[in-house]
Amino acid sequence: MIDTVKNFDIDALISEAEAELRPVFEDIDRISERRTRDIIDSFRKHNMSEACLYPTSGYGYGDRGRETLDLVYADVFGTEAACVRHSIANGTHALTIGLFGLLRTGDKMLSVTGAPYDTLEEVIGKRGEVGVGSLRDYGIEYDEIDLADGKIDYDSLEKALAESENIKVVYAQRSRGYSTRRALTVAQLDELADFVHARSNAYVVVDNCYGEFTEMTEPKADLFIGSLIKNPGGGLAMSGGYFAGTKRAVELASYRMTSPGIGGEVGATIGQNRHMIQGFFMAPHTVAASKKTAALAAYIFEKLGYEVSPRWNEKRSDIIETVKFGFAEGLCAFCRGIQYGSPIDSYVTPEPWDMPGYADPVIMAAGTFVSGASIELSADGPIREPYIAYLQGGLTYESGKYGIKCAAEEVLKLSR
Ligand SMILES: *Cc1c(COP(=O)(O)O)cnc(C)c1O
Repeated sequence: MIDTVKNFDIDALISEAEAELRPVFEDIDRISERRTRDIIDSFRKHNMSEACLYPTSGYGYGDRGRETLDLVYADVFGTEAACVRHSIANGTHALTIGLFGLLRTGDKMLSVTGAPYDTLEEVIGKRGEVGVGSLRDYGIEYDEIDLADGKIDYDSLEKALAESENIKVVYAQRSRGYSTRRALTVAQLDELADFVHARSNAYVVVDNCYGEFTEMTEPKADLFIGSLIKNPGGGLAMSGGYFAGTKRAVELASYRMTSPGIGGEVGATIGQNRHMIQGFFMAPHTVAASKKTAALAAYIFEKLGYEVSPRWNEKRSDIIETVKFGFAEGLCAFCRGIQYGSPIDSYVTPEPWDMPGYADPVIMAAGTFVSGASIELSADGPIREPYIAYLQGGLTYESGKYGIKCAAEEVLKLSR
């Protein structure tokens, strides 16, 4: 911890950080530039036109915007097919569609990144009521292999694939979620796909939430899945989710999304196309702003004496930054500062509350235009040891930087 907090000059520290971060920011911009170009080239290839922005109603047959955006997602994400819908309620819903689309009674889902994101536990049937329609209720088995030192445990995976013939889905979560591990990189996920495909017919499914556009490419899984109020919505999509992958995997998932035989051929877009299309166009830039905000936070809070992950100069494959405070008041002060520096509801003070489904009280800062959108600057954390703040988002670097400054000031006040 710095000794003389009294006259601490946060602006000087931010200037120092920005000078050090220049090469990091240049790398971030390179990714954003390349991927923006990919998007524009794909828009041109598929005749993205003004008519694509118009709403449809009813069945939505032949909705040009919907059909074109599906093609553009597939192009830009390097997959055979994709399905993007505002009507997918959130990331959990998109993942549920993908898993139920691929798995049948007697099949097994094997997670190779340990316990999946909290909300998936009830989808799988690891936790929660029996009889609600979880994978387990439908006779689908589940098993998991923990990461070893933050890496996929290939020895255990090899053994599992050799021993059980019913593994239909090998599942990996790219982002750290609410854990302290690092995100898996695209290279690591590609290695996983090659490994599995060389040994079995199982589908490789990746929870890609928070990962999109952080690297030059997306993982080459059979199906990867994400939320539009995170990275690929670019901060403009008002709700939604997507899944992308092989033709067959996307088709099977689309049959679960609507009905067998109908799949992705229907779905009125009722005015949401513009937000989803423009949001996708904005997404590489917005993700870059989030990554810069995260890198700045990493630099500043490390200098203030806290353990951060990733460090400011480490490679990023998701937009999450963690700051370990070690005491509840630190975590709360951080969230107060983020809220104070947010565009919406900056006058309110976040307090810990007992959120349904969580064992400990949780504090959340989210002053967002789209409710709950975590591509916008937001921070949260459970009130328990070791009192870690999870920070993500920032629609613009300028606003992200201001949020980090407010958070640092609020934390520094504690030691005055
Ligand atoms: C956000 C997220 C999800 C899905 O959460 P929703 O709140 O349902 O959108 C799943 N996995 C990871 C890693 C996530 O970050």
